[in-house]
Amino acid sequence: MKHDTNNASGKTNLLDLDREGMRAFFAQIGEKPYRADQVMKWIYHHLVDDFEAMTDLGKALRAGLAETACVGPPKTLLDKVSRDGTRKWLLGMDGGNAVEAVYIPEPTRGTLCVSSQVGCGLNCTFCSTATQGFNRNLSTAEVIGQVWAAAKHLGNVTHRQRRITNVVMMGMGEPLLNFEPVVRAMNLMRDDLGFGLASKRVTLSTAGLVPMIDRLSECADVSLAVSLHAPNDELRTQLVPLNKKYPIDELLAACARYAARRPRTTITFEYTLMKGINDTPALARQLVRLMRRLPAKVNLIPFNPFPGTQYERSDEDAIRAFQKILLDADVQAMVRRTRGDDIDAACGQLKGQVLDRTRRNAQFRRRLETGEQANAA
Ligand code: SAH
Repeated sequence: MKHDTNNASGKTNLLDLDREGMRAFFAQIGEKPYRADQVMKWIYHHLVDDFEAMTDLGKALRAGLAETACVGPPKTLLDKVSRDGTRKWLLGMDGGNAVEAVYIPEPTRGTLCVSSQVGCGLNCTFCSTATQGFNRNLSTAEVIGQVWAAAKHLGNVTHRQRRITNVVMMGMGEPLLNFEPVVRAMNLMRDDLGFGLASKRVTLSTAGLVPMIDRLSECADVSLAVSLHAPNDELRTQLVPLNKKYPIDELLAACARYAARRPRTTITFEYTLMKGINDTPALARQLVRLMRRLPAKVNLIPFNPFPGTQYERSDEDAIRAFQKILLDADVQAMVRRTRGDDIDAACGQLKGQVLDRTRRNAQFRRRLETGEQANAA
């Protein structure tokens, strides 16, 4: 199957198709390529999901499309607004699963944080998604459908009132382990016939899958964020077990190759600050040495607690001191203000509804019950 487009009704979900796929689909039903463009504008610029409302298509084509195709975004199961304006949606996918998407309004931009998988298999010890285990990858329609659903809720109009100016693949899941659907969805975010976002405003965040970072650099023009969280292998392996497979040296080399292909790019390194774990001045100095190797900026994220975690947020003084060491060494570093934590929408607090297919969830609960540390291997 070329695209995973057929839903339960047997119809092609047009949200699964990027521009090329749309043109192929219209060619297949004997229509000209510009019909695909018209329909994309209805879907992504006007947020229309009903073919009857696509008034510049002929009656027969509208009826034909209604029979063979659909525009099927995920179902909104919950819509929560935080005191600070952050908004979170629980979006239902097929099979009883659900993921979360979060919108963070700021004075000059609006960022949507999107999920790539139902759950996550990487088992980072400080992330609440990990405690849920992993179910499956999302399809293109399920990834771009999160943007579509959020845009609809926000009254986003692409070319007039753009509420979503940035998209970050920083929700649930590891986007590079769901490569093709995520790349196709990011193409739709950037396409003029899609949401039309500038490349640098679409960011993929990864825990550090080295070969996939190289693959991404070959086929997608997006900003890269890397979840670093520790400046040496011993500590990083404790926090991000994937580090055992792709240690820091290899990861930074892949980042340097990514940056070399995009002269204007700065890579963002995310560093979640946990009290007494990775927030000491000595570690900040180690981080400075690493960051000298490439055009980088550091995003410091105060740890967001969740039930059952053994970690705590670093004290404000420690956060400032850590940042100062970086800034004094001319390493760009900002502290990401915690947003939406009253509705569990902050980084690392996204949970959704994951019907776990691994045994990790049960193991995690057992460890909690027996009082063992949640990050025991
Ligand atoms: N798997 C990808 C995408 C998830 S991004 C990745 O690892 O980059 C989510 C970001 O929030 C990552 O930087 C992650 O490390 C960070 N994060 C996870 N749990 C957190 C927590 N409890 N508090 C603060 N940040 C957290």
